Amino acid sequence: MNVAAKPEVVAVVVAGGRGMRAGGGVPKQFRRVDGRTVLSRSLAAMLASDRVGRVVCVIHPDDRGLYEAALAEVPAALRARLAPPAHGGMTRAESVRNGLEAVAALGGAEIVLVHDAARPFASPALLARSVAAAERFAAAVPGVPVTDTLKTVTEGGAIAGTVDRTPLRAVQTPQAFRFASLLDAHRRAAAAGRDDFTDDGAVMEWAGHAVHVFEGERSNMKLTTPEDFADAEARFAAARETRTGLGYDVHAFGAGDHVMLGGVRIPHDRGVEAHSDGDVVLHALTDAVLGTMADGDIGSHFPPSDPQWRGASSDRFLAHAVARLAARGGRIVNCDVTVVCEAPKVGPHRDAMRARIAEICGIAADRVAMKATTSERMGFTGRREGLAAQAIVTVTLPAEHA
Ligand code: MG
Repeated sequence: MNVAAKPEVVAVVVAGGRGMRAGGGVPKQFRRVDGRTVLSRSLAAMLASDRVGRVVCVIHPDDRGLYEAALAEVPAALRARLAPPAHGGMTRAESVRNGLEAVAALGGAEIVLVHDAARPFASPALLARSVAAAERFAAAVPGVPVTDTLKTVTEGGAIAGTVDRTPLRAVQTPQAFRFASLLDAHRRAAAAGRDDFTDDGAVMEWAGHAVHVFEGERSNMKLTTPEDFADAEARFAAARETRTGLGYDVHAFGAGDHVMLGGVRIPHDRGVEAHSDGDVVLHALTDAVLGTMADGDIGSHFPPSDPQWRGASSDRFLAHAVARLAARGGRIVNCDVTVVCEAPKVGPHRDAMRARIAEICGIAADRVAMKATTSERMGFTGRREGLAAQAIVTVTLPAEHA
C-alpha cells in the first residue's frame, strides 16, 4: 500500500469490556447481529477503510477463544492488517493505554483512531472524517446534536428545569488523535492515578489539549441493551438485498503429479495447464463472487498476460474478490460448487476443500457445499482431457449499492 503521501493511521478497537446487559451470555461485543459478531463487524469496518493501516484490538485475556472465533468472520485479506491483540486492563482508560503501548511497540503511528467495539456501524465516510479531523487538530471526537428535550428532575421526580440542548453533543467513536499526544496524555493520566476517564477526548482535555468535535453519525449507535440489538437486527433486514453470482472454469490436464482444487493439493497422475496454479474451483468461485457485484471477471482483475500471476496460488484471487465484497459491506451467505471430472476423486478431499474455502471467504464451513460428478465419459471431461468447475454464490449486501 502506498501511504507515503498520507499520515500513517492505526486504529485501536477497544473490546475488553465485560458488559452482559445485552443478554446472550457473552460480553456484548461477541453477540451476533445479522449472523456476525459485533466485534467482527467493528474490526471489518476499520480494516475495510483505505485510510486505516494496522488495527490493534484490545481484549480481555479470558476472551481469547471468543476473539479467535470472531476473527474467522473477518475476510482473510482484511485480517492481514490486524496486529496481535493487546490485553485490556481494569478500566477502559487502562485498556486504551495498553492498546496504545502495543501500537508504540509496533513502531508507532502519526494518527490513531480509538473505536469502541460496540459500535459496528461506523461508515467509511465517518472514518475519512475522523482521519481528516486528526490531520487538523491534535484531538477530535465525533458528535451528534441532542434531539430529545432534556430535563433536570428533583429526587422526587418533579421537573426542576429544562436544559438548553443547543450547545450539547452526544459524543461517539472513532475518536481521532495525534498518536504521540494521546499516548503521552494516557501515560500522564496513569502516573497521576487517573484511570476513570470514560473516553479519550476527556483524557486529552485533562492533559490540556483543545478537543475538536466533528460531525458524527446518528446511525453509528452503541449497542448496549437487548433493545439496541433488536433495532440493529431490524436495520439490517430493511437495508440489505440478496444477490447471486455464477462462475465456470475449465483447465486442460498436462504434465504433473497433482492438481489444486479448492485450495487443496490433490495427488494425481496429471497436472493442469494454467498460468496460475489452475485451481478451477477457486477460479469459478472468484468469478461467482465478482458476478454478484457485476465487477468484471477473474481475467480483468488478474490478466493472464501479467507475469506476476504466473504460478500464483489461487486463494489470492478469491480473497481479492471477497475483500472487494467486504469493502461494499457485503458478505457471502453460501457457496455451492460442482466439480466435473472423471478423476481425481473429489470425495476424499471434500471436507478439506470446504474448510479451506470457508477460511478464505471468512464464513463457516457449513455455508460451503462441494459436489462432484463425472460426465459419463462424454465430452472433454469424459475423455479425461481436463476438468471443470461450476460455482454459484449468494451474497447479502447493503441495498444502497443497488
Ligand atoms: Mg482458470
